[in-house]
Amino acid sequence: MEPAIATTDRTPGGGRTRSCDVLVVGGGPAGSTAAALLAEKGWQVVLLEKDRHPRFHIGESLLPLNLPLFDRLGVRGEVEAIAMMKYGAELNSPHHHSKQTFLFSGALDKSWPHAYQVPRAAFDHILLRNCARKGAFVVEECRVTKVEFPGTGGCVVYATGKEPVDHVWQARYLVDASGRDTLLASRMGIKRRNPKHASAALYGHFTGVERLPGRDEGNISIFWFEHGWFWQIPLQHGITSVGAVCSPRYLKSRKTSPADFLWETIALCPQLESRMRDARLASTVTATGNYSYQAERMAGDCYVMVGDAYAFIDPVFSSGVFFAMNSALLGAETVDGALRDPARRKALENKFDRTVRRGLESFSWFIYRMTSPTIRDLLMSPRNIFRVQEALLSLLAGDVFRSRAVHIRLLVFKAVYYANGLTSLRRSLSAWRRRRAAAREAYQE
Ligand SMILES: Cc1cc2nc3c(=O)[nH]c(=O)nc-3n(C[C@H](O)[C@H](O)[C@H](O)COP(=O)(O)OP(=O)(O)OC[C@H]3O[C@@H](n4cnc5c(N)ncnc54)[C@H](O)[C@@H]3O)c2cc1C
Repeated sequence: MEPAIATTDRTPGGGRTRSCDVLVVGGGPAGSTAAALLAEKGWQVVLLEKDRHPRFHIGESLLPLNLPLFDRLGVRGEVEAIAMMKYGAELNSPHHHSKQTFLFSGALDKSWPHAYQVPRAAFDHILLRNCARKGAFVVEECRVTKVEFPGTGGCVVYATGKEPVDHVWQARYLVDASGRDTLLASRMGIKRRNPKHASAALYGHFTGVERLPGRDEGNISIFWFEHGWFWQIPLQHGITSVGAVCSPRYLKSRKTSPADFLWETIALCPQLESRMRDARLASTVTATGNYSYQAERMAGDCYVMVGDAYAFIDPVFSSGVFFAMNSALLGAETVDGALRDPARRKALENKFDRTVRRGLESFSWFIYRMTSPTIRDLLMSPRNIFRVQEALLSLLAGDVFRSRAVHIRLLVFKAVYYANGLTSLRRSLSAWRRRRAAAREAYQE
């Protein structure tokens, strides 16, 4: 039976102002995960989504540690049916003769040797239907416009749907999963541009892109080039997602259409260009300005922010959807615990905050340095001294929330990075200055 997904105000409770235990804003991976888990715990959950699914979204490459989350939600089979199998990542550098392939099977914990590449329209739709199946009341084409915290507990949420009348909801808790719209962080004035990192992106879907042979066909390929790096993500039905992540300044130098500019940019990367000699554009091309930000806090009296609604840094490690779903899991535990025992709210919020920040920090150190020549050299000539290479693969798999062993070995990697940086100090300093100037310029804007 199809789950209850509504585009009308056919909402439980009746009346002008309706009530629920938890109101979730946004039906992306974070919102659908939080809604499913909270509905499963027996709470009355309402999820409001401004769009109608299925709809396009960027973020197609997932991580191995997404799989236990799919198992927890009971959707692994459905997701696998729309996915390409991703066993690892291929790195290509214009400064090195051979490419490098990192396979997840080499991580410290060998339990999760693959991930998936998914078209987000179908993937997000699976997760949204799943939360409705679990009992969440989902209203699509319904945009939340205002949230009030009256100070007497709970919140009042205003939304506009297809009908001329506004929706008004009274909820005991709010889960903000509004993605890069950052509903609460923007309205509270606590959204901050990342002072250490700035990048922008340009992407589209293509047919006819040459793929890797055999089992590697579904792997993600990364190509460094002078303005940043490219992704090549193979999807089902011969579609390949190709995108350039570059400095905001480079994106602003565009004089042609987004599609022409993407082709011009691809021509700057001969390794990718040769794989795209027979390629045809199969979608519109999207350009996204600087997207690196973080909110000052992720929780407070009666609310949590999960996924991109709290922070987004950069797509280089394909960690966005994993972080979104994992922070939704942690956020749902926080909400569930606080509703059951309000006296524990603060302690639960602190734990939620600590865990999410720690995971983000593990990735951000690498993200900030991804275009530095020292990191490129280390990644292109990997060595498994003290099992550092295995720890790096664990990081790439998303295994940053569970294992101390991973973090200890990553410290060794960082020490090697700084030691190598010292041996070619001038090159390292000039790369650091370039990165800092790009971030500062975007930050000041
Ligand atoms: C260029 C680029 C490439 C990326 N590539 C990858 C990748 O390969 N792998 C990966 O894992 N991640 C990638 N990401 C990141 C990924 O897209 C996000 O991290 C992920 O989608 C976050 O999920 P979310 O549920 O938090 O937000 P979203 O997926 O954005 O979902 C938010 C939902 O909230 C809804 N919404 C917003 N405001 C309101 C409102 N006021 N009322 C009601 N509904 C609302 C939106 O319609 C949307 O459906 C990439 C990001 C960028 C910018």
